[in-house]
This record gives sequence, C-alpha cells and structure tokens, in this order.
Amino acid sequence: MAIAYHVKGELLQFNVAQLLKEKVEASRTYEIENAIVPVDDLALTVTAPITGRIRLVRVETNVLVTGTLRTTLKLPCTRCLEPVEAPVTVEIEETFVPVSDVSVGNPVVIADDVDRATLIDESHILDLTEVVRQNLFVSQPTHILCREDCKGLCSTCGHNLNEGRCDCQNTTIDSRWSALLALKDDTSH
Ligand SMILES: [Zn+2]
Ligand SMILES: [Zn+2]
Repeated sequence: MAIAYHVKGELLQFNVAQLLKEKVEASRTYEIENAIVPVDDLALTVTAPITGRIRLVRVETNVLVTGTLRTTLKLPCTRCLEPVEAPVTVEIEETFVPVSDVSVGNPVVIADDVDRATLIDESHILDLTEVVRQNLFVSQPTHILCREDCKGLCSTCGHNLNEGRCDCQNTTIDSRWSALLALKDDTSH
C-alpha cells in the first residue's frame, strides 16, 4: 500500500482532483504528522498537533474518508476544575461531495441534507478541518480527573482541597452528620 505524507504543520486539506479522475475505488492513504486543526471555540482546546492515518477512496463521484486521528485536548478536571491534558482518538468516516464536476467543471446540484462541512470545493480541495473539529468536540471525555485521588473543591467555599484544607473543614462536624455526609459522598460519583 503506497502511503503519501501529508505536509507537516499544514491544515488537513487534500487536493482530490486527480483521485476523482481515476477509476472508482481508486484510493490514497496519507500518513498525518503534525497537522493543524484551528479551533475557534472556547469549549474546545486542542493542545497537540494531529497525527494518524487517513484514507481517501473514490466512491462513485464522491470521496469516502476513513481513518484514525489522535491529539490532546485540555479539559477541566471533573472535581477540581484544574486543566488536564487528555489524549483523544477520533475515528473518521465521512463521505465528501464535490460541488463541481472534476472533468467538465460544471457545478453539481448538492442535496439540501448534505453537511456543508463535507463539500469538496471548486478547486477540488477536500478540507477535513470541520469534520475533525466536530469529532473532537463529541469525543471529549465527560469524566476526567487531574489525579485518581483528586480531592475536589470545598462545596462551601470553593477552595481547591488538593492544596490543603480550608477553614470550613476545621469546624467540627457533628458525628450524626458525618455519617450522612459520608453517604452523600458515596453516591456523588
Ligand atoms: Zn482535580
Ligand atoms: Zn471550604
């Protein structure tokens, strides 16, 4: 299997003009090293370049993209909210549709239900950026800890208990209440 190398440090964009002129099921495999996915989204922080492997296959007049990509996201710890770096892997499987016919250059009618993120533009550039961004967004782990024994925040004053006790905890808790609090602690995760 021939492997092409995606240019390091560049966007996940691929010119598929040649691929679309080849026979059905023609394919390209790209080794992705240090690709960039610019994210303008406060809810998602990508902290490492994208790596992995992507395969483009001509399917009829479209291009099927499959592959696995990896990077690192910065997320708040579920308990203490301190930032944590979390490795993530996304599986890509998406059909991209050209907006113009590659051989004659005529515009192609695009169905209403086709996602704009999966269009191949007039210059025959297939841009994976938005699809990868969407996949990264949904692959964010919902439960992540900065460390296994993260003590979290004090529910009264918000102090980070990993940095030591706060004044609230120094107040003696009545023993009847401490049993209840222990129970509450058990059911909270
Ligand atoms: Zn934590
Ligand atoms: Zn406190």
